[in-house]
Amino acid sequence: MIKEEIIDLLKVKPDKKIRLKDYHTGWDQTKELKAFGKKATKERANEILQKSIEELSSSQELLYADDRYSLLIVLQAMDAAGKDGTIKHVMSGLNPQGCQVFSFKKPSAEDLDHNFLWRYMKSLPERGRIGIFNRSYYEDVLVVKVHPEMIEHQKLAGEKIGKAFWQSRYEDINAFEKHLVRNGTVVLKFFLNVSKKEQKQRFMDRLERPEKNWKFSLADLNERSYWDDYVVAFEKAISATSTEWAPWFIIPADDKWATRAIVADVISSTLQKLDLRFPEMNDEQRAMLEKARKTLEAE
Ligand code: ATP
Ligand code: MG
Repeated sequence: MIKEEIIDLLKVKPDKKIRLKDYHTGWDQTKELKAFGKKATKERANEILQKSIEELSSSQELLYADDRYSLLIVLQAMDAAGKDGTIKHVMSGLNPQGCQVFSFKKPSAEDLDHNFLWRYMKSLPERGRIGIFNRSYYEDVLVVKVHPEMIEHQKLAGEKIGKAFWQSRYEDINAFEKHLVRNGTVVLKFFLNVSKKEQKQRFMDRLERPEKNWKFSLADLNERSYWDDYVVAFEKAISATSTEWAPWFIIPADDKWATRAIVADVISSTLQKLDLRFPEMNDEQRAMLEKARKTLEAE
């Protein structure tokens, strides 16, 4: 397991006004890790990832059998920060039947005819399951804030789009997540914190390697020119919505192996802290099982 002090560095305390520049994007989060060295840290991270994947697999089975809780994982990031790869690796040991991934793209006309939380509400994980939101309702205070012209498509009733408007969206999100938590959904939110330099490297990689060409999108390059606006939007959103009931974690994302190990560790240790148990049989059910056993034996 990853040391509590490192996780503590990455978990955003409620009401804390964060600045992303205060968070390292690389693997060397502490002096201790730096001294330990990159190679050794990477080996350790890969072990942690493997261990967490195994633990997640048994916790998932228990989550399913227990059937009282569900887990919602929200992933947000700049482009090429590694959301897809994180999902692929961290979830690799899970039973697909108990896991649902939703990737949210631009909203449809039907989505825009409803309140901004509607389409996400429809995709929430059922009890006993793990749901992953690859992008989420946070886009409505991120991309939409960076490109305010998008608000026009949302057909809002004459509201002025200023500070109070965004504040009310943060409040709606906090209330929505509180509602989920009260109803048995555990909410974990990860911001994959990639540096502008590493993003450039990953885009270049997509341009230079033929097998990665398909991943390149001009739209991503265009969004890169709004980098500073996104930083501010993320800082505001994370500061306003990291709550006791639904915390944000700012995950270093310049080294994919570090990202995956930390995300897997946080998810698996969160599930292990829940009071999950296999349902107990009552006398009547036990008698039914006994009767069934006798029937089979008598065949
Ligand atoms: P990939 O890794 O495949 O590129 P992606 O998540 O970047 O995954 P894209 O299809 O490239 O997927 O981009 C989805 C786009 O949809 C993003 O630009 C995102 O900002 C936009 N989007 C998502 N939710 C909303 C929303 N609520 N309002 C407006 N735009 C949104
Ligand atoms: Mg994209």
